[in-house]
Amino acid sequence: MEKILRINMGADGGPAIKDDPLGDYAGFGGRGLTSAIVAKEVPPLCHPLGEDNKLVIAPGLLSGSTAAMSGRISVGCKSPLTGGIKEANSGGQASQMLGRLGYAAIVLEGKPKGDTLYKIFINKDGVDIQEDNSLRMLGNYDTVEKMKTAYGEKISCISIGPAGEMKMSAASVAFTDMELRPTRHAGRGGVGAVMGSRGVKVIVIDDAGTKARSPQDADKFREANKAFVAGLRKNPTTGEGLPAYGTNVLTNVINEAGAYPTKNFQLGQFDGCEKISGETQAETENARGGEGSATHGCHRGCVIRCSGTYYDKDGHYLTKQPEYETVWAHGGNCGIDDLDAIAQIDRLDDDFGVDTIEMGATIAVAMEAGLAEFGDAEAAINMVKEVGKGSHLGRILGNGAAVTGKVFGVERVPVVKGQAMPAYDPRAVQGIGVTYATTTMGADHTAGYAVATNILGIGGSVDPLKPEGQVELSKNLQIATAAIDSTGMCVFIAFAILDQADTFQALLDLINSFAGASMTGDDVNDLGMKVLKIEREFNAEAGLTDKDDRLPDYFKKEPLPPHNVTFSVTDEELHQVHKY
Ligand code: SF4
Repeated sequence: MEKILRINMGADGGPAIKDDPLGDYAGFGGRGLTSAIVAKEVPPLCHPLGEDNKLVIAPGLLSGSTAAMSGRISVGCKSPLTGGIKEANSGGQASQMLGRLGYAAIVLEGKPKGDTLYKIFINKDGVDIQEDNSLRMLGNYDTVEKMKTAYGEKISCISIGPAGEMKMSAASVAFTDMELRPTRHAGRGGVGAVMGSRGVKVIVIDDAGTKARSPQDADKFREANKAFVAGLRKNPTTGEGLPAYGTNVLTNVINEAGAYPTKNFQLGQFDGCEKISGETQAETENARGGEGSATHGCHRGCVIRCSGTYYDKDGHYLTKQPEYETVWAHGGNCGIDDLDAIAQIDRLDDDFGVDTIEMGATIAVAMEAGLAEFGDAEAAINMVKEVGKGSHLGRILGNGAAVTGKVFGVERVPVVKGQAMPAYDPRAVQGIGVTYATTTMGADHTAGYAVATNILGIGGSVDPLKPEGQVELSKNLQIATAAIDSTGMCVFIAFAILDQADTFQALLDLINSFAGASMTGDDVNDLGMKVLKIEREFNAEAGLTDKDDRLPDYFKKEPLPPHNVTFSVTDEELHQVHKY
């Protein structure tokens, strides 16, 4: 992966294509690369939808190789939602394909003058860009169908739905999975709006005629990969829990812990949780779609396989297995205990191209504002449909929880830096509260998943209800995650490498034998710190200060049942997170 594909969408005479060498960016991949490019090339004070912003799509350092779990992809830009730097991470097939084609990144820059929509086709022979206004306002599913007709079934697609075209701040970028369905999303931060503002509807990738990237030391690489996979398989979370029930295995666990944000973060437990749990979901999927429907990888080379397929009551494909975050966002957080309704909303979210976390949080805020009753699934479905239509209400909702709260005068709006909180209440999981507050990304659980140690007992044990130890925990996890996100590895490998020294060593061996390097654990830490530093500096120049590293006030004042706790990590302690 020696080259960067740059496409200037604003060039005179139409989009201009250029292959650039990696140059100064050598050694960066995934999130490290997207953040390095954005920090160096995007003016921090630019308008996120303006011509100076760039959308960077980067496979990880190991993507395109045969390393297990290495097919995640990063999408970076200045975020329309947070106003800071953004990296949104996704599965899907594009990462492996771009890696095999030799691209370290695609950079969409400039802004077309008119409102023409473009499609981009990339294969081993080069890049072709065509106008295609027939795609206007199509959902991601129809867009992919059209691409299949035009380019065959062996492609992968990166696309936006109507929300991206309407430049909504909740808009996602969709990636097709192994079945060529647009079910994997770089969801967070409005990255789809930035793609829409470049006038790009879809990027089609065909890696026919390419080979997997070769490691520097093939024998050591093979051995390391074997040990790494064995480590993932022997770990109870990555080897059993996630494959059997998917991420939704967390519903019962987090509810039990009293940390399941319910009805717009008013309560820590949801009465209807059993009906929407991972166990119920897996049972439903297996009964409707056949045994094994609940076990599926989101890209080639995933061995954990935490995903699955959701079928409707008649046994027809409806959507991919909704993730824990999605089930929570549209379920407990909206007081809804109907899995079929949640799956239907997941399908709409994927088709319109919106982040399921932001959308669920937004609907809950709208419910608190009185637009519908908590628990009213039909009203929730109709709200998402308004977003797809782009009605006035839909445009408000499609711009996320913060905008919706402001428009309807709601105080309880669970956002940090304008981005909605995911499925863990920070009062009952104080470590994740530190991550929400201080990550460069706005509220984001994946940036430093303190739930692992606070609730699951992985990587040690820190009392979730007390402030002690949370800053150190979140800091270390944020650093490690920034490094993992740069490799293209799925962040779920953390469950195994945090507790199993031999599996962490296998990961290092994998990286070193592939790249001909000699990285140590300390070097991995240094890489993570370097990425965070780049991101922090961008955010500071964009106008974000320590005062933006805070949770909304009500988390410090309103006790959360059943533990009746408030968030008690002090502002001074929060300031210590990024002292390294
Ligand atoms: S573990 Fe899950 S999220 Fe991670 S790569 Fe596999 S299917 Fe995708």
